[in-house]
Amino acid sequence: MQHLLRNIPSVHDVLEREAVDMIINLQGRKYTKNLILQGIEMFRDKALASELHGIQCQTKEEVMEWIVAYVRVIHQKNEQKGLKRMVNGTGVLLHTNMGRAPLPKVALDQIVEIAGGYSNLEYSIEEGKRGSRYDYVETLLTDLTGAENAMVVNNNAAAVFIALNTIASNQEVIISRSEQVEIGGSFRIPDIISRSGARMVEVGTTNKTYIRDYEEAITEETAVLLKVHKSNYRIEGFTADVNGSDIGALARTKELIAMEDLGSGCLVDMRQFNLPHEPTVKECINKGLDVITFSGDKLLGGPQAGIIVGKKDLIEQMKKNPLTRMVRIDKLSLIALENVLQIYRSETMYEHIPIMAMLRREHTQLVEEAKKLMKRLRDTLNDRIQVCIIEEENSIGGGALPGAKKTSIGLAISSQYIGAVALQQALRKHATPIIVRIKDEHIELSIRTLFSGDYDVIVQGFCDILNKLEHKTISNY
Ligand SMILES: *Cc1c(COP(=O)(O)O)cnc(C)c1O
Repeated sequence: MQHLLRNIPSVHDVLEREAVDMIINLQGRKYTKNLILQGIEMFRDKALASELHGIQCQTKEEVMEWIVAYVRVIHQKNEQKGLKRMVNGTGVLLHTNMGRAPLPKVALDQIVEIAGGYSNLEYSIEEGKRGSRYDYVETLLTDLTGAENAMVVNNNAAAVFIALNTIASNQEVIISRSEQVEIGGSFRIPDIISRSGARMVEVGTTNKTYIRDYEEAITEETAVLLKVHKSNYRIEGFTADVNGSDIGALARTKELIAMEDLGSGCLVDMRQFNLPHEPTVKECINKGLDVITFSGDKLLGGPQAGIIVGKKDLIEQMKKNPLTRMVRIDKLSLIALENVLQIYRSETMYEHIPIMAMLRREHTQLVEEAKKLMKRLRDTLNDRIQVCIIEEENSIGGGALPGAKKTSIGLAISSQYIGAVALQQALRKHATPIIVRIKDEHIELSIRTLFSGDYDVIVQGFCDILNKLEHKTISNY
């Protein structure tokens, strides 16, 4: 053991190695030195604990190689940690774990153009003095939804919170038992209501709620009748729901506020995509709801944002709420949101907004794309993989249209050299991770959620994995 410890190189000697040059170039000497120190320490601990049996590290050179290998592995693991582009082969259009809606190219160009320099974020060009960052986005929103007024915040959770904190603090909010949803594991409607300072009054049952349930629960203390979109679940069987128009009408006669948290919120009719009807924001305004909240990065297809539209005086009060500053939208998101809303106003969303374009992709188009990718994979990998075109179903995800499926096209891919689970994992660990599902003995790659640039990445990914595997079995990959 003494002899092992004597062979440990100095940090300086490891730094001189060509094999760590790449890491120094990417991350600098300080970071690399730190990894080397960790490697040396790890080697010493293992040597002292006699855990190096069977490993070739007797000579000075072998110890050096052990440490260099360690440094490279840790560096690779660190590299996996930062945000990076991924290929979404799951067919889930708004994947909550994959950044929800991809942004339109034109919106990204605007971010580069505007945020790369100074801008009129809070400057009135007309008057040459301080202006409001919200002016234009509000105009766009009122134009698009027919609402009297609008505001935007950091995300929809914040929108619900600010709205309730402004209009229902210290008062009662009536909500159906069937609408107390949890979204994304931490956003729970009952918690948001209580944190906003309002008191929640539950009415109805899990499966049935009638307008008379709301009516009977109204007291002197009631401020808001709240409706919440059942974003990620669906009740089947004997159910009864109260629609927005009835809630709006009841609120008007009782001089209360009718509010709906639409969750996803969309501006176009989903039936054109052969999907179930989702009330658009405009329809909800027309139903007589006073306040509506929705997300920017779900079906709208824009950046993370929370949008509040509704009655002029109510929205004005929310804008003056001091907590609004804490949930303010940042400039990058605002640039993208303005751009996305402009795209809707010019009615070019099916061209420019990725989510809309993906929903629009026709069966024949998907088959054509699948054939192209299949041919490229076969041409490059020959008989090392088996590929065929399959029919499959995509879900929308992101708490929009729960249970709704879109028939779609995918590729079923398998290889005699590697099992489906190992292949799925290797694709995930590719330099640009490729995320796929497994079905039976093959992996399934959905076509609908792929971008044209993803094809090169996918072909390269399979190539890299299979080349590494050449003449090896799965177990020692
Ligand atoms: C998604 C969702 C939210 C939260 O929206 P974020 O933009 O993710 O903060 C709130 N309410 C409903 C009904 C939702 O579906």
